[in-house]
Amino acid sequence: MLSREEQIAALERPLDVLVIGGGITGAGVALDAATRGYRVGLVEQADFASGTSSRSTKLIHGGIRYLARGQLKLVGEALRERARLLRLAPHLVRPQPFLIPLYDGLTRPFGVHVPAFLQPAVPWGVRAVLWMYDRLARMPALHHRRLTAEDAASLVPALSTDGLRAAFLFHDARTDDVRLTLSVLAVARRFGAATANYALARSFAYAQGRVAGARVEDGLTGRTVDVRARHVVNATGVWAERAASMDGPPQFRIRPSKGVHLVLQGEVLPAETAVLIPQTDDGRLAFLVPWSGRVILGTTDDSYDGQIDAPAATEADVAFLLRQANRVLRQAVEAADVLGVYAGLRPLVEAGSRSSADLPREHAVVESPRGLVSIVGGKLTSYRKMAEDTVDVLARRDGERRPCRTATLPLADAEGLDAARKALAREGLPRKVQQHLLAAYGAAAADVLAIANGDAALRAPLAEELPVLAAEVVYACRHEMALTLADMMFLRTRLSILCEDAGQAAAARVADLMSAGRGWDGAEKLRQRAAWEAVVDRERTALRSLQRTTAL
Ligand SMILES: Cc1cc2nc3c(=O)[nH]c(=O)nc-3n(C[C@H](O)[C@H](O)[C@H](O)COP(=O)(O)OP(=O)(O)OC[C@H]3O[C@@H](n4cnc5c(N)ncnc54)[C@H](O)[C@@H]3O)c2cc1C
Repeated sequence: MLSREEQIAALERPLDVLVIGGGITGAGVALDAATRGYRVGLVEQADFASGTSSRSTKLIHGGIRYLARGQLKLVGEALRERARLLRLAPHLVRPQPFLIPLYDGLTRPFGVHVPAFLQPAVPWGVRAVLWMYDRLARMPALHHRRLTAEDAASLVPALSTDGLRAAFLFHDARTDDVRLTLSVLAVARRFGAATANYALARSFAYAQGRVAGARVEDGLTGRTVDVRARHVVNATGVWAERAASMDGPPQFRIRPSKGVHLVLQGEVLPAETAVLIPQTDDGRLAFLVPWSGRVILGTTDDSYDGQIDAPAATEADVAFLLRQANRVLRQAVEAADVLGVYAGLRPLVEAGSRSSADLPREHAVVESPRGLVSIVGGKLTSYRKMAEDTVDVLARRDGERRPCRTATLPLADAEGLDAARKALAREGLPRKVQQHLLAAYGAAAADVLAIANGDAALRAPLAEELPVLAAEVVYACRHEMALTLADMMFLRTRLSILCEDAGQAAAARVADLMSAGRGWDGAEKLRQRAAWEAVVDRERTALRSLQRTTAL
């Protein structure tokens, strides 16, 4: 892989397509355009996937809630994408069984109001929705089934069976959103795309009245880079309106919706079956999903008008989520049980005055009068289709037939998984470390281990109970452009959201490993540490405060 400096130098050569935004949408557009033979560059103002694309529920799903509301087209498309990703990235996107417990007294399951006289029929209604989900998904191995209360309780021992009337098992898929984004970017680079993080698009450049590039600031050196491109794509998610307004009044409005997740101990769901909480206090649904040895509980969905650069959970968000989990758990969880928290913003597209939970999750490609192409809305699951629709617009503009190739293109290191699995087994690593490395890096897991080269310290986990190895820090610096301690802790290793101490115990070791890789001196190491601690404080203030209050 080219170094970051070389990537930036490549951006200075005339491009066909410049993508602004290095979340999953921008990564998808860069990959799609590069595989159609375009010369592509991508700039990201912070770290790759640092925006919404690291803050999702990690589901690759059709969206059962939208089906219950009759949005067949949206769900069908997402399920087709789910099937593709299960095939094209089997290490990163895996089937996820979900239990749906239905208790007495549900008045708004899946957000659908059910009058009292119809409440006895709720299980039939849910069954009909799941039947339709299976039909749209066309994957018989993943069809739903009804469970007895005993089966449900033995599948998820933590489940409360008080008032449990019926239960269903169905399947979706789960992923690691950051690794998915990095994987898509890695393939884009293999097809020649130049990608730079910490590269902020500050303004657009014009030629004959049309958008023809951007002035980009290199966040590491402060240098200005003028990038020339025949097409410029705005894939900046929740920032899309701000970015489009550099070109004039935008043709769309983004209505950010905040979603908070809590991280709980893995013991809450020991059997790897997720739980769908079919009704929340605000008439939506929520999830408990096993992830990275922990359980993710989410999410809220609230209109947001604060700072889009730094969303954070409030005490009310944390308390709300705990209440929803306790609707279905035998043993109540409380603030003291929460290990971590993260908040993200959904880039929903304005549609009248509906509440954010009711706004459609569809995407739209919007062209400005001067030719800026913005891709807005959508979700993680549909990134590939969003990219296809965007690059189709560019190809049409060029009057060329450049068919999309990504529907059958495996993601990075998705081939050779069996050999990688066998090689990992020979290394004598604990099983959960093997599983983690294979899921995160696919066939490149061997390259991560090769970094350790027999060095036991590099093969050691960074935090007790978690399978993340020290060698991964070195790999991320060498091969994946990881630049800051905060990014390493929050995005690349996730220690700051998965560990109760936000990764404090591992931070010095991670900083040492990064110093060696990035050539930091003592002063820079201190600066990096302070910057990381500031992010921890911002993201955990509400959680800590609630934990203190409830401990009194
Ligand atoms: C709480 C929550 C849960 C979700 N759960 C799921 C789920 O389980 N499944 C699912 O399918 N979807 C889910 N989603 C939706 C999904 O996460 C998002 O739709 C998706 O991640 C958006 O990706 P994006 O690339 O469009 O935006 P982002 O990931 O935010 O990327 C935009 C990028 O643009 C960069 N940028 C902005 N301005 C500039 C500039 N001027 N120059 C350079 N770079 C710039 C930003 O730094 C950012 O990294 C969830 C969303 C939320 C909030």
